[in-house]
Amino acid sequence: MLPLLARAAVSFHILWQALLLSCLHSERGQGSNQISIRIGDASMGDEEKVIIVEGRSDKEQIRKIIDEDVTIICTNGTLGIERLEQLLYEYDLDHKQVYIMVDEDSAGHKLRKQLARELPHAQHIYVDRTYREVAATPAPELATALLSRSIMVNPFFLA
Ligand code: MG
Repeated sequence: MLPLLARAAVSFHILWQALLLSCLHSERGQGSNQISIRIGDASMGDEEKVIIVEGRSDKEQIRKIIDEDVTIICTNGTLGIERLEQLLYEYDLDHKQVYIMVDEDSAGHKLRKQLARELPHAQHIYVDRTYREVAATPAPELATALLSRSIMVNPFFLA
């Protein structure tokens, strides 16, 4: 009789522990959900910014002007469909605040058109036609253009 009771008590104890553990796990699960939701909300108000430019010199030129954490992607000219798809996937561009800043020449226009088609949510930044190229545009002009799209710039370049 006693061993049977003891066995029942052990079984009950194991069951109780399992129940406690499962509660603990589900609580932990809920907790982490809440955290991820909070992170999601925070990042939605302050979306990650990605600027697409054509070449390395464009990237270097705007990198020294910009005073916030942005990703700058070089396309190195017009893009094949595969490379474009790769960029979309690699940088998760559908969920980023994307800016297109290309040269005011035929290659630049072609690229802007292609990018705009794939990324309808992208914002466009234009350089003055007289300078044609992003890299050839004076820094104060670039700083003003970037700031007009609410991209923080080093005030040194606004003078
Ligand atoms: Mg060009």
